[in-house]
Amino acid sequence: MNQGLLSVDEALEQLLSGARAVSEVEEVPTLEATKRVLARPQRSTMDVPPMDNSAMDGYAVRVSDLQSSMKLKVSQRIMAGMVGKPLEPGTAARIFTGAPIPPGADAVVMQEHCEAEKDAVLIKRVPKPGAWIRLSGSDIRKGGEILAAGKRLLPQDTGLAASVGIKALPVFRKVRLGLFFTGDELVMPGEPLAPGRIYNSNRFTLRGLAEIFGCELRDYGIVPDNLVATREMLRRAAAECDVIVTSGGVSVGEADYVKPAVEAEGSLLMWRIAMKPGRPLAFGSVRKAFFIGLPGNPVSSFVTFLIFVRPFLLKTQGVTEVAPRAIAARADFDWPQPDARREFLRVKWNAQGGLELYPTQDSAVLTSTAWADGLVDNPAGHAIGRGEQVRFLPYAELYW
Ligand code: AMP
Ligand code: MG
Repeated sequence: MNQGLLSVDEALEQLLSGARAVSEVEEVPTLEATKRVLARPQRSTMDVPPMDNSAMDGYAVRVSDLQSSMKLKVSQRIMAGMVGKPLEPGTAARIFTGAPIPPGADAVVMQEHCEAEKDAVLIKRVPKPGAWIRLSGSDIRKGGEILAAGKRLLPQDTGLAASVGIKALPVFRKVRLGLFFTGDELVMPGEPLAPGRIYNSNRFTLRGLAEIFGCELRDYGIVPDNLVATREMLRRAAAECDVIVTSGGVSVGEADYVKPAVEAEGSLLMWRIAMKPGRPLAFGSVRKAFFIGLPGNPVSSFVTFLIFVRPFLLKTQGVTEVAPRAIAARADFDWPQPDARREFLRVKWNAQGGLELYPTQDSAVLTSTAWADGLVDNPAGHAIGRGEQVRFLPYAELYW
């Protein structure tokens, strides 16, 4: 049944073996580095916290002093941002969260365990040495790696870099992604919808995905269904982009010009995949640009973008880990008549923590993708029984 079709894994392997990370690296301010991909590992040039400091509002004491008296004179006040004096023997220092521990003190007693008097404090519980002290270097050691190369920087990563004083980060330049859409039936929202026409919804879906994956986008819009125009567009996009992604025109219909156009301008490596949705997919190159031709069907182009274009773009962008993290989840549905091809089913979490199936899995029904929380990756020919654990790819994981 699947003869002549490439498996998803084979296709992915071929695709990824062709991908190479962009070589140019640029420095960007750490403030603007979120969603960029780190080109070199970052190490800390300092200990964090830089000094022992208090984890509580309370009193810094020398534990051995409490053997003679639980009442201590308060000899100083230390707020965050100040530096205290050495702690006089037999006294306590009023201290606040984040303030440096004064030399000589070896514990902090939280204020809830103290009774403040005029110039003294009554300690109600003897602390253990080290209590409520955050030791210098306990979070990050000087010289330690804090961020690995090939990591896409999330807000917490740029915060971490900033916490050790890194003001700029080396990142890979953005991948230039060219998108164009084939189909004489396509019009844009806002234009009159003449009989036989449909809106170019793929432009919105694919462009949105390209933005999520941090690409520098060149959106060339709609290309007429003819060989000359398609070849012209390919040449232009190849001159301006690292990767060209198209939608439509990769079937074997008479109006499908993408395949012959790529063959004429460059080379086409493969194009039939054992997956549903999304059988026709083209991979090749035009001059220095990689080419990926997605099917025009809205669900197919969305799913094939996530399964193939996503890891390809990530690898091109310099990301090290490109495989999506799937999770095991319970199917609260039956899927008795699976396809002979590997399927990507649109599903949604229910309140019981299981997955519901969208009633129509037709690849023309875009509603299913908007309704869903992600895709079940169902092996070829596998019937799913209610209650079974399935491989779930949440959008949240695929969107990064
Ligand atoms: P094709 O791959 O060109 O044969 O297109 C397959 C189906 O997807 C046809 O029904 C097209 O009308 C539809 N289609 C193609 N491109 C788009 C697009 N950009 N937006 C929405 N539907 C599309
Ligand atoms: Mg078409």
